[in-house]
Amino acid sequence: MTAPVAPTSPITQDVMTIPRKAAPGLPNLVGMSRDAMREALIAAGTPEKQAKMRVNQIWQWIYHWGVRDFEAMTNLAKPYRELLAANFVISLPEIVSKQVSSDGTRKYLVRIAGGHEVEVVYIPETDRGTLCISSQVGCTLTCSFCHTGTQKLVRNLTAGEIIGQVMLARDDLEEWPTPGAPKDETRLLSNIVLMGMGEPLYNFEGVRDAMKIAMDGEGLSLSRRRITLSTSGVVPEIARTAEEIGCMLAVSFHATTDEVRDKLVPINKKWNIEKLLQALKAYPKLSNSERITFEYVMLKDVNDSDEDARRLVKLIEGIPAKINLIPFNEWPGSPYERSSNNRIRAFADIIYKAGYASPIRTPRGEDIMAACGQLKSATERARKSRAEIAADVQG
Ligand code: SAH
Ligand code: SF4
Repeated sequence: MTAPVAPTSPITQDVMTIPRKAAPGLPNLVGMSRDAMREALIAAGTPEKQAKMRVNQIWQWIYHWGVRDFEAMTNLAKPYRELLAANFVISLPEIVSKQVSSDGTRKYLVRIAGGHEVEVVYIPETDRGTLCISSQVGCTLTCSFCHTGTQKLVRNLTAGEIIGQVMLARDDLEEWPTPGAPKDETRLLSNIVLMGMGEPLYNFEGVRDAMKIAMDGEGLSLSRRRITLSTSGVVPEIARTAEEIGCMLAVSFHATTDEVRDKLVPINKKWNIEKLLQALKAYPKLSNSERITFEYVMLKDVNDSDEDARRLVKLIEGIPAKINLIPFNEWPGSPYERSSNNRIRAFADIIYKAGYASPIRTPRGEDIMAACGQLKSATERARKSRAEIAADVQG
């Protein structure tokens, strides 16, 4: 008998078993807002007068230096470090596995409390590096072209689990600053997109609190312009996103008639194209951002005609916009096909001639199923069978 030979592939998979188990019951400082941390420190015995300063110090250790051990917080007196260790933990979700694509894209499978798993993708580019993070385990919505949509919603991620994904990626990229070393302005992880698993606006507070931590100038210090939240169109939360987060907005538009959008993005039955456009029109002013990204997945013979392109341009008239064309990423059993390159180019051309930027998104990490819409944790059961989805789409 011969032992099976593993196929040669550019993919490496390593399972990391860094024990990061939190002591049961102790509150985790990761994910707390500054106010919440202040309250928690006071409750643990920090004199009220010192609490603000202590938050600043601890905040910098955690979010600027990436420190996880109270003992390493050298500007705090030893008894105070002991008090912290007796009352709190600094704990992150756990990386279960990492896959690296031949194009450098990294996909992490991350385990959160309760044993649930989400996926996080790091996409290196020449001038920046983008981390695609998840906001929910699964999704309540059932967009018919999306792999995550076949997975039942298990729960919302906490703010700590959301910001924890950013911190884990920084660990893996070895990007925390070294005290005393010259300041390095190049960042491997320079941008965040909320385009992983889940609908971020159905976990508003968790996402908002995590992004506030990401933007805090004393810590991770990412500009709000480098954070993009993608929504399928949860209309009532759009103005609030502008006011309470202020990040860039992307919207999964994907169709130019309600009839087609109802099938592709079923939330459209609740808030249709007209209502969505109304909310989007107000966003740039409310958030002081330049433009909205319209995401448009290119599905062969479904939404990719010249007529669609012309209708799209008409619909978004007056909204400062960029249209991001996403070639459909197939997944096992997916009910659609990707539009041809020629079709995508012709569609892009109509939009470009109307005066809008129309970049075609290059699928990244396809060999490790890391591209948009392919994320799904294998541990969860499918919500619908493929046959049911196909029937919905055709019906
Ligand atoms: N739930 C949010 C964010 C996650 S999806 C939303 O729907 O906007 C990020 C983007 O990938 C969305 O525009 C989504 O519509 C798109 N997407 C989902 N499945 C895809 C697939 N199979 N191929 C290409 N894009 C897909
Ligand atoms: Fe959920 Fe977004 Fe996928 Fe729709 S496209 S099912 S909203 S993750």
